[in-house]
Amino acid sequence: METIFTKIINQEIPSYKIAENDSFYAFLDINPNAKGHTLVIPKKPIDKLFDLDEETYADLFSYARKIAQAIEKVVPCNRVGLSVIGLEVPHAHVHLIPLNSMNDANFAAPKEKMTSEEFITLANKIAEAVEN
Ligand code: AMP
Repeated sequence: METIFTKIINQEIPSYKIAENDSFYAFLDINPNAKGHTLVIPKKPIDKLFDLDEETYADLFSYARKIAQAIEKVVPCNRVGLSVIGLEVPHAHVHLIPLNSMNDANFAAPKEKMTSEEFITLANKIAEAVEN
C-alpha cells in the first residue's frame, strides 16, 4: 500500500533527506522526540517491519547502522536508540533517536520544536557524516 512515505521517496512531497540508496531512504522525522530523530525506510511499500523479506530486513538494519553512526557523530547524545512503532504510517520504518534520557524514547512525551532552517542544517550535517 502506498503511503505518505512513498510520496517522500518519489520526491512528490518534500523531506529533510539524509541519504538514500537503491533500496532505502533516510530522513528527519518532522515531529521529533529529540533533535536528530531520523526515520529509515525501505523503498518497498510493505506495511509491517517484520513482514519484510529476509534480505530487505537485514539490509535495512545494516543501512540504519550507517545512519545511526552519522547521527552519533553530529548530535551530542549518550547513544542512538532504535525503535519500531508503525502505528501512524503503515510503511515499514525504524526510528533512530539520539538519547540522553529515557524521555527521549517516549513517543507520548511533548515533541521537540525545530524551525525549517534547523531541520535543513541538521539533515545536511548528518548527510555529510554518512560514510559511503
Ligand atoms: P509511527 O508510524 O507510529 O512509527 O510514526 C510515524 C512517524 O513518522 C512519526 O514519528 C511522524 O512524526 C513521522 N512522520 C509522519 N509524516 C512525516 C513526514 N511527512 N516527514 C517526516 N516524518 C513524518
